[in-house]
Amino acid sequence: SRRALLEAATGPGRTADGHPVPLLANVGGPADLELALRNGAEGVGLYRTEFLFLDRAEAPTAAEQAEAYRAVLEAFPDGKVVVRTLDAGADKPLAFLPPPGEEPNPALGVRGLRMFRIFPDIMSGQLGALAEAAAGLTAQVQVMAPMVATAHEAAWFAAACRTAGLREAGVMIEVPAAALRSDDLAAEVDFLSIGTNDLAQYTFAADRQLGTLSKLQNAWQPALLDMIAAAVGSHGKPCGVCGEAAADPAMACVLVGLGVTSLSMAAPALPAVRAALAGHTREQCRAAARAARAATTADQAREAARGMLPGLG
Ligand code: PEP
Ligand code: MG
Repeated sequence: SRRALLEAATGPGRTADGHPVPLLANVGGPADLELALRNGAEGVGLYRTEFLFLDRAEAPTAAEQAEAYRAVLEAFPDGKVVVRTLDAGADKPLAFLPPPGEEPNPALGVRGLRMFRIFPDIMSGQLGALAEAAAGLTAQVQVMAPMVATAHEAAWFAAACRTAGLREAGVMIEVPAAALRSDDLAAEVDFLSIGTNDLAQYTFAADRQLGTLSKLQNAWQPALLDMIAAAVGSHGKPCGVCGEAAADPAMACVLVGLGVTSLSMAAPALPAVRAALAGHTREQCRAAARAARAATTADQAREAARGMLPGLG
């Protein structure tokens, strides 16, 4: 019917057999919200807050931060908004927050949560501004840290969130050590979110900014699929994906087959991913994931998965 077609085009994400898979948007700030809403995002799965901090000599004030965060939270009064704390360093250098020493390999240096370990006041400033922004609003606010490597770091971050009055804390899985020990990390937080861009970079030891190594920045690589399966683990906590991989319709089905619980992507990718999920059952997604992991190259993995997902073209 027309209603079913419309629902499939804009409604919540679900597989053909009705298994819900929330479809969320990656945003960099209030300017991205309209596109997210127009494409039927159910919420925000990755709010990259560092855009607010770019080209600054000093950190934005608490009031300035709270205003920016509030604009995003207000756009999804009934949805979830996952705010990522500052991911400074490496591919996202911030002038006011340079790494504390010379770094020959910035991607392996002080970045993401590691920066907060050295400058905890900047973390408490950001968490405080977020708590202030969230006060009185109805959106479900979740906060997560990037570049977490150990359960100890996850516990430290979760405690800081609680101190700031933020109830739901999670960590990104971007480092192989975190993926391999995801059950330990999950025990410390409320949810996990896999950043496939960095997880690929660190799994293959291949700089994500080097076009010459782009073959290794490919989520169909069977080793990355294994790494994602490790991140889903057996902890049972929600485990989403917010890297570029989630925007590929066939890969989105494979991720659901691997046990990923939500998908966040650049908003223009949402309709095609929504349609791909609506066209396949969870069992088909699982079969596609098994077929992809049984392959030995990225190309074979993609072909094998597509063979289990009829109608993807
Ligand atoms: C990722 O690493 O996959 C991710 C989502 O974060 P960013 O691309 O901002 O590093
Ligand atoms: Mg990342």
